[in-house]
Amino acid sequence: MESVLQSKSLIQRAYWLVHLRWVAVAVLVCATFLASETLKVSLAVSALYTVAAAVAVYNFVLFDLLRYLVERAEHPSLRMLSRIITFQIGADFVILTVILHYSGGIENPFFFSFIFHVVIASTILSTLQSYLAATFAVAVFGTLTLLESFGVLAHYELVPFVSVDFFANRFYVLGTLFVFSATLYLVVYMTTSIMKQLRRQQEGFELVNLQLKQKDYYKNEYILRLTHDIKGHLAAIDGCLNVVREKIVGPLNDKQMDLIERGHNRAVKCLAFVNALLKLTRMKLTGRLDMELFSLKRSIFNAFAAAENGAKAKNLEYAYEMDTAVDTVYGESTLIEETITNMLLNSVKYTPAGGIVKLSVKDAKDHILIQISDSGIGIPPDETEKIFEEFYRAANARKVERDGTGLGLSIAKQVVTRHHGKIWAQNNPEGGSTFSFTIPKDLQSHPEAGTVR
Ligand code: ADP
Repeated sequence: MESVLQSKSLIQRAYWLVHLRWVAVAVLVCATFLASETLKVSLAVSALYTVAAAVAVYNFVLFDLLRYLVERAEHPSLRMLSRIITFQIGADFVILTVILHYSGGIENPFFFSFIFHVVIASTILSTLQSYLAATFAVAVFGTLTLLESFGVLAHYELVPFVSVDFFANRFYVLGTLFVFSATLYLVVYMTTSIMKQLRRQQEGFELVNLQLKQKDYYKNEYILRLTHDIKGHLAAIDGCLNVVREKIVGPLNDKQMDLIERGHNRAVKCLAFVNALLKLTRMKLTGRLDMELFSLKRSIFNAFAAAENGAKAKNLEYAYEMDTAVDTVYGESTLIEETITNMLLNSVKYTPAGGIVKLSVKDAKDHILIQISDSGIGIPPDETEKIFEEFYRAANARKVERDGTGLGLSIAKQVVTRHHGKIWAQNNPEGGSTFSFTIPKDLQSHPEAGTVR
C-alpha cells in the first residue's frame, strides 16, 4: 500500500517536471525572440531555437515514456521512477548550461535560474541527492565558464547588453562561481530543512489518520457484536410473543391481546433497526462486495413490485420507465435491488395519499442513472446531504412517520459508493423530491471494483 502511494507521488512529480519543461521551452523561445528582435541583443539565435526544439522533442519522448509506464506497463518500480526523475533533473542542468553557453555564459544573469532547478530538485530528492544535484550543477556550469574563460569553448557575447568581457576576467569568474556555489548549497540546506519539517508533519497526519481508522474499525466491531447479541435476544422475545399471540398456549382476553400485540410491534420495529445497523456495520467492516454480471432489468421489476402494495394502499400514481438499452450491469445484485426498493418504499412512505411516485432508469453514456421521484413532503433545503448521514431524520419526516431508523439512505450511500457511483437527492420545483444514483458501466474492468475508492 505504502509503495503504491509512493509510486503515485513519484509519478506525479515526474509529470510535474515534464509540465514545467513545456513552460521553460515556451519561455526560451519568447525570450530569445524578444531579446534578439526587440532589444537587438547579439544572441546565437538559431542555436537557441535548435536547443528549444531539441528540448521539446526530448520532453515529448519523456512524456510518452511516462504514459507508457503508467498506463500499459505493470506498476513501474519505485527504483525506475526515481531514476527517471534523477535523470530529468541532471539533464535539465545540462540543458540550462547549453542555453547559457549560447547566450553569454557567465555574463547572462539568467544563470541564477539554476536556483529554481535546485529548489525543485530539493523538494523531490533526498537530502544527500539534493547536495549531489547542486554539486553537479556547480560542476557543469563551472566547467562551461572555465572552458569559455580559457578560450577552449567559444564565447557568445551579449552585445550591447554587456560590453565588458567579464568571461575572460579570471577573478570575476572564480568569484562569481564561489558565490554561485555557496548560494546553491544554502538553497539546498534551506529547502531540504523545510521539506523535512513538512514530511514529518505529513507522517504525523498519516499516523493520526491510521489511528482513527483503527479506532473506527474497533468501534464497528463492537457495534457488530452488540447488535448481533441484541438481535438474538429480540428474535427470542418476539418468538415467545408470537406463541402467545397465536393463542398456542391458551386464550387471551382483549386487554392481554392488545398488550401482546403492542409488544410484538415494538419488537418487529426494533428488529428492523438492529438488522439495518448490522447490515451497515458489516458493510463498513468488510472491504469488498461479491460483484457479478446481473440483470438490472429484473432487479428493477422486483424492486418495483416490492413497493407496489404500499403504493396501491395509498392510491398513488405509481409507474416506471426504463430505457430499452438497460440490461445487465456489473455489481452486487441483492444490494442494488434493496437500494432501489428502499428508495421506492421511502417515496411511498413520505408521499400523501393520491400523490405520485415514479421510477426512471436511463442508459447514460458511461453509467446507468436510476431516479425515484415523488410528489411527497420534500426535504428541508439545507438537509439534502445530511439525510445520507447515519441516524439522520429530517423534522418533517419525523412528523409524518414517527418510527424510522434513519439508516436506509446511509446503507444506500455505502452500496453506491462501493459501486463507485454517485448518490444525491434534490427537491422538485413542483414539490416532492427526487433521489438519484448512478452505477458506472466500466466497473468490471476496474481493479478496485467492490471496494471504497
Ligand atoms: P428513514 O426513512 O427510516 O427515516 P432513511 O435513511 O431511509 O431513514 O431516510 C433518512 C431521511 O431522509 C428520512 O428520515 C427523511 O427525512 C429523508 N427522506 C428519505 N426519503 C425521502 C422522501 N422520499 N421524501 C422526503 N424525505 C425523504
